[in-house]
Amino acid sequence: MKSFLYDESETATIIYNNGFTNGYDKRELLLYAKYLRHVLGYKDVKIKKKLIEFCSKDSSFNEVIERKHIKFCVKNSKVKLFTRTSILITREEINRAKKLKNFVAQKVYLSLLLIAKRNRYNSVSIKLFTEIKRISGVNCTTIELGSILHLLYKAKLIYPTANEKNNFIDGYNKILDIDFEGEAEISINSDRDLFNFSKIYEKYCGGYLIYCEVCKKEMIRKGSAHRLCEEHFLEKEKFRKRSARI
Ligand SMILES: [Zn+2]
Repeated sequence: MKSFLYDESETATIIYNNGFTNGYDKRELLLYAKYLRHVLGYKDVKIKKKLIEFCSKDSSFNEVIERKHIKFCVKNSKVKLFTRTSILITREEINRAKKLKNFVAQKVYLSLLLIAKRNRYNSVSIKLFTEIKRISGVNCTTIELGSILHLLYKAKLIYPTANEKNNFIDGYNKILDIDFEGEAEISINSDRDLFNFSKIYEKYCGGYLIYCEVCKKEMIRKGSAHRLCEEHFLEKEKFRKRSARI
């Protein structure tokens, strides 16, 4: 699991020494290229040669298909290796999450934003189930998490792109709106904050949010049987008493 204080040079060193984490990966390849340029001081021609050599160790790599990406890595490796020390969630992002009217799905969505922002991408690898579960504090199976992600997709918050290669599913959940610079409504500044995000968000909301089963009104959960807003609870009680009399 990557730590919050995301240090590209640390990750790049691991890739340089151990190879790809899970087989050929475009993002990891860029980090490798940055390592060659900034740590070893290689220039374009040597970087390109080394990248092809490095990738060729992976059987799923195809030099012809990936030619464009190799070129991209050589060019973009000029950007320095960075370290990230804080990430923010904006008010608009929280408002967008709250439209889901499902507290667990909100936490998962915001966790995806945090992971993406930490790594400075607008998408999150579909392989990061454990990390998403840990940051969102959601205790569920991978299949259940998959159905939460489907909710986000239906709400037009994310767009999944997956492909199958050698019986191995790979891909990303692209986040459709992401603000890297805006004003912080919630700010995360350490590993501890990141893995406590579920509690931080709950505190921010004033408690565990639930939505009335009838009118979808937002409420703070008062107990496990709490499912209706006051109005609809009274209505149900009235109906129950009337039915009891008949
Ligand atoms: Zn209601």
